[in-house]
Amino acid sequence: MTTNLPMIEVSNLGKNYGSVKVLSGVNLSIQKSEVVCILGPSGSGKSTLLRSMALLETYQEGAIYIEGELLGFKEAGGKRRPATAKETSYTRRNVGFVFQQFNLWPHLNALSNVALPLMLARSLSRSAAEKKAIEMLERVGLASHAKSYPSRLSGGQQQRVAIARALAPDPHIMLFDEPTSALDPELVGEVLQVMKSLAREGMTMAVVTHEMGFAAQMADQIVFLDGGKLVSKAPPEEFFRESTNPRIQQFLSNFT
Ligand code: ADP
Ligand code: MG
Repeated sequence: MTTNLPMIEVSNLGKNYGSVKVLSGVNLSIQKSEVVCILGPSGSGKSTLLRSMALLETYQEGAIYIEGELLGFKEAGGKRRPATAKETSYTRRNVGFVFQQFNLWPHLNALSNVALPLMLARSLSRSAAEKKAIEMLERVGLASHAKSYPSRLSGGQQQRVAIARALAPDPHIMLFDEPTSALDPELVGEVLQVMKSLAREGMTMAVVTHEMGFAAQMADQIVFLDGGKLVSKAPPEEFFRESTNPRIQQFLSNFT
């Protein structure tokens, strides 16, 4: 099937926590193989937007479509009801998520951290899951650390294991929420390197990051959030050189 359907379509998205509105009127479309970097000040709603695209959060207004499927709801006769876990499992499996704090299971070694979700979510046998897990660890340069527990790995290595874990079920989309923000500066490069090779292989990616070099080099679009609203959407050349929005200029001045 050939189609120009976006991989992710966010349409007039609104989200609140109780009475607090944290996202409103967000529109964003991500095409296959695009890399979109999401920038913005702390508290602007970046994580909430990204987490909503992985159904780690629910939303109240608008719609998110993943490969054309409405995320989180079923619609019939103009009415909406929340989708069941079963109804969303296919879509959720096709979205990989990488957290700032890695979120590895501390009591499992690197191999099992990658293999376990394959056994649980994909019903692979242990041997098939471990075979796939080794391939994934090779891909992030960590096959030799398969038996290491997270506590014996550097932050950069732990994050690479987390990326291998997210990649193992062959997601169509990868979402990264500040994947290098918890790392010592000398460990940032090895994680960005893995992300760059993924992007070059054509993975569709949305990345919340403060790594301006990565954004400038890899992004097809840069979106800027402020106060829960998407205030700019532009290719990097335009975003970095031509933005006249004072909020963006103020934000960027922190990095120069
Ligand atoms: P960012 O990732 O850009 O720093 P977040 O998406 O984490 O921003 O947060 C956006 C806003 O939503 C902030 O004001 C934050 O305090 C609020 N928020 C985030 N998570 C919750 C939550 N679970 N409950 C209530 N408010 C939240
Ligand atoms: Mg955040």
